Amino acid sequence: MSLPLAEAGALAELLCELTDELLYAPRAASLAREAPWHRYRARVGSGRQTCLRHYPDGRLEITYGRRMVQDKYDPEHSRVWATSRELSRFGWFGGSVSPAHTLAHTALHEFAHLLQAVRGERRAGSVHNTAFYRTLGELHEAGDGERLYRRLAERAGATGLPLGFREPGDEEQARRSARQQAYAALAVGDRVRLRGRDRDYTGTVRRINRRTVSCDLDGGGRLRFSEHADFERL
Ligand SMILES: [Zn+2]
Repeated sequence: MSLPLAEAGALAELLCELTDELLYAPRAASLAREAPWHRYRARVGSGRQTCLRHYPDGRLEITYGRRMVQDKYDPEHSRVWATSRELSRFGWFGGSVSPAHTLAHTALHEFAHLLQAVRGERRAGSVHNTAFYRTLGELHEAGDGERLYRRLAERAGATGLPLGFREPGDEEQARRSARQQAYAALAVGDRVRLRGRDRDYTGTVRRINRRTVSCDLDGGGRLRFSEHADFERL
């Protein structure tokens, strides 16, 4: 059973509040001095997309997608996200990828993009660069991650929102093992549909690698996916 969307939305809303209170507010005065042109806000999105948008009129807007929150409660979908992999890769929160840890880290990740934008360090095509990870690391070292995690756990607990992984039900387990078999049986030339962050893609299998399958997308471009990807053979 995946986390109900209403609960995912409430958690995304909570992330917006905590980003305001714990990350932005304490730095509001210095950010206003550093970048008087900017206006900040955080909002809940209905899809998966989770990002910082920088508008030409100076708005810096963080979006937390409801379906991103839902994904983070599912062990299999969670590990597809860079924000989950960063925890094991850099050892933040001791590498714990519980939903509450990955959500708190997601807030820090998006806020590090905001700092990057304020400092004029955001360059198209290389937003996840060394300077970005240094900024993100500094937020963790300053205790922002731990504070956000604790407050998230407190408030979610107080309003009855869950904090642990949702284990997939029998139906979902069966669907996943069928998909793993289908993955193992894929051959060059097969037609597939893949579930992406915001939309589905269709394409043709081009190559079977050791851990991934590469496919040519209809309309151009290439995509690689693993047995954990949400796909179906057409
Ligand atoms: Zn990012």
